[in-house]
Amino acid sequence: MIIKTDKEEFASFLSDAANFKGDAEAVYFPENEEELKSILKECALKGIKTTIAGNGTGVTGARVPQGGVVISTSKLNRILEINKENKFALVEGGVLLKDFQDAVEAAGLFYPPDPTERNCFVGATIATNASGARTFKYGPTRNYVMGLRVILAGGDALELERGEVLADGYKLELTADSGRKIKINVPRYEMPPTKNTAGYYSKENIDAVDLFIGSEGTLGVIYSAKLRLLKLPAEILSCVQFFNEEDDALSFIEEARLLSYQIAGGNENSLIDARGLEFFDSNSLRFMESTYNNIPKAAKGAVWFEQEYSPENEKIILDKWSALIAKHRGNIENAWIAFNKADYEKFKDFRHSISWQVNEYCTRNGVMKVGTDTAVPHEMFREFYRFCVKLVTEANMNYVAYGHAGNSHIHLNMLPANHESYTKARELYGIICRKAVELGGTVSAEHGIGKLKKGYLLDMYGEENIRQMAKLKYSLDPGGILGPGNIFDEKYINELRKPL
Ligand SMILES: Cc1cc2nc3c(=O)[nH]c(=O)nc-3n(C[C@H](O)[C@H](O)[C@H](O)COP(=O)(O)OP(=O)(O)OC[C@H]3O[C@@H](n4cnc5c(N)ncnc54)[C@H](O)[C@@H]3O)c2cc1C
Repeated sequence: MIIKTDKEEFASFLSDAANFKGDAEAVYFPENEEELKSILKECALKGIKTTIAGNGTGVTGARVPQGGVVISTSKLNRILEINKENKFALVEGGVLLKDFQDAVEAAGLFYPPDPTERNCFVGATIATNASGARTFKYGPTRNYVMGLRVILAGGDALELERGEVLADGYKLELTADSGRKIKINVPRYEMPPTKNTAGYYSKENIDAVDLFIGSEGTLGVIYSAKLRLLKLPAEILSCVQFFNEEDDALSFIEEARLLSYQIAGGNENSLIDARGLEFFDSNSLRFMESTYNNIPKAAKGAVWFEQEYSPENEKIILDKWSALIAKHRGNIENAWIAFNKADYEKFKDFRHSISWQVNEYCTRNGVMKVGTDTAVPHEMFREFYRFCVKLVTEANMNYVAYGHAGNSHIHLNMLPANHESYTKARELYGIICRKAVELGGTVSAEHGIGKLKKGYLLDMYGEENIRQMAKLKYSLDPGGILGPGNIFDEKYINELRKPL
């Protein structure tokens, strides 16, 4: 096993895509389960803080160590099986999502979870319950996890198959491969009815698999996962439609969402069945103009949508979308429409480009990213969006707003040019998070809490619920060594460790 102890050699493990910085003594690169177990055992015995690293595209500081050691999952990168007949795959945690999706597609199958950044590890997407544009139709990563092999602090393994280990109410008992029994009190709070990855998953009679999804490297290391696959869709209509008024773009999304939900509810008449509905505000379009000079100058908003179809219903589906675009005053003549896979990939790059350019802007200006990850119930979205825009505009803060509007989940990224405006941006960020919670939403719909958003999680759930989360972690990791400082402050674990 490679162990790096020279900081210059492992500098890339000391930050993430949010530009959050940390420090560590060493980085371990286990190549198999036994090596992973032995490091975890040693770290638990010696009480060494252990941060699990995926590929570093996270934007919450979750993989950035604050002392101790890092375990990189990059050498646990085997696709163990793609089972065409029963439509599932077995993969190690360090497989690159992009490689996995390509392999699955080559087998004629489809893995829907698609965070905008595909340069991430499958294990990490499970640890953050990642989602993306296609989550609108297919839901988050959680929906595709059929089983997990998790290595706990101390080195015990848990083999979990969905449907096999369920809590009795909020009491869950797990049995490790060593025979050790672990009793867990599942946290009990109401989660928002939105896309959500803020804090541990809470549910009566929870499936043990769900406990580890979205746990941000704090409960165990996802060594391998069994993932559900679907049939590869025949054809995909992909279109970026521009609107001269932002309100028109938003109304278009609202109606497309409604029609798509009707299909999901069994009404086949609408024919509109979007798999993604992504929004770009006017500032986003101007921000990207230097890279994409074909963005219409008059456009004040855009929507990237996709729909799967079969060759026999291509025309009628195109007609339905054209009519919807016209109804919301979009001009189909200036739309970008993909007629082949290369064009389709270009639109994905277009969506990825805005997130990437924002990260680069922040790095250039020496500040951390200040981008919201809030989602609110659909009926609250307009009110919430207007509130955010008014707030940042009145504060003279440059920003771009874009993202998963189909899920009422927009990333409003502020663009502070220096440390002074960064401080202001963080203040505004806090106000936006509190507003999202007030409207029944979440402070994190897909990126997780990590180290940067703990205060907002505390606002969202209150201290009593944070203590319940700490108790859950304590049952699995009494030394508090795994992912310390992620989701909640270490003080909540330390309180539990105090002698009576
Ligand atoms: C341009 C850009 C766009 C993005 N768009 C999206 C998006 O649309 N949707 C979305 O959900 N996210 C998005 N992200 C965030 C990021 O890509 C995801 O959070 C991704 O899941 C992180 O994967 P990673 O391999 O880089 O993990 P890292 O950042 O290295 O780690 C993330 C977390 O996972 C934990 N972890 C990693 N591997 C394991 C494991 N095997 N077992 C247990 N814990 C583990 C880490 O400890 C950490 O808590 C975006 C990021 C960028 C830079």
